[in-house]
Amino acid sequence: MTDKIASLPPVSSMMRECGLEPKKQFGQNFLFDLNLTGRIARSVPDIEKIPVVEVGPGPAGLTRAILLAGAKQVIAIEKDKTTEPILSQVIDASDGRLRVIFDDALRVDFSALGVAEYAICANLPYNVGTELLIGWLHKIASGEKIKSMTLMFQREVALRITSRPGDEHYGRLAVLTSLIADSKIIIDVPNTAFVPRPKVQSAVVQIIPNMEKIAALHDLGKIEQLTAKLFGQRRKMIRAIMPNVNWEKYGLTGTERAEKIAPETFALMAHDLL
Ligand code: SAM
Repeated sequence: MTDKIASLPPVSSMMRECGLEPKKQFGQNFLFDLNLTGRIARSVPDIEKIPVVEVGPGPAGLTRAILLAGAKQVIAIEKDKTTEPILSQVIDASDGRLRVIFDDALRVDFSALGVAEYAICANLPYNVGTELLIGWLHKIASGEKIKSMTLMFQREVALRITSRPGDEHYGRLAVLTSLIADSKIIIDVPNTAFVPRPKVQSAVVQIIPNMEKIAALHDLGKIEQLTAKLFGQRRKMIRAIMPNVNWEKYGLTGTERAEKIAPETFALMAHDLL
């Protein structure tokens, strides 16, 4: 089933043949290293059982690895129409397993993709990565069956997603992610792995929605508002930002800064105070 994919010419040759150059405005930093793309794809839980949605296939390096790893169905969403000549060759080689939607992933309604549940796997464009992630967290909170997300981010963003209270990178992203899912960095990726080479390092984060956490959640929108308010002035004591709060109720004194407050405490406070 994967022979035709394995026999395609290398991604770099296909790009040359189709005259495709990486474009900065689409955040295009491509992966050509088959070991790396294979590792990322094989780390997607249940890849052979549930559909995989990929944002930004570009010239299809990661897409090919996902197909080679045995995915039965891949839906890829790409904004840059000039990748079509390459993607159509991969579609032809995929035996009906790959569908490509040319659109902006920020505008696509993921609930209307026609799959009941799915995994997301992507080397995300750096300029819209966090916005996409927050959108998916909201979707999961409202019942969308996203079973896992295996996502490449700039390393600093990966740390912001996976950090814990008191860590340097702890903030809104960590609070929202941690109230919905379990997350960890699974692969550190050096900038030399990309073409063109970005200035910063990257990392793959795996985010697995946790049903118990989701069941206990009240309103992610309110939690987002509260984190924006308290982390917006992260150097200030919380009582200076929000006077007239009975902090003791949350095991706090009011002299803390947002970076010390646990995700579960943010959730309780958002439920009561907003
Ligand atoms: N998956 C390829 C790889 O790993 O080599 C390309 C990854 S590159 C970092 C990001 C890809 O996302 C590019 O192909 C880019 O055109 C696409 N992209 C950028 N913004 C997008 C958006 N809003 N919606 C869908 N695709 C987007």
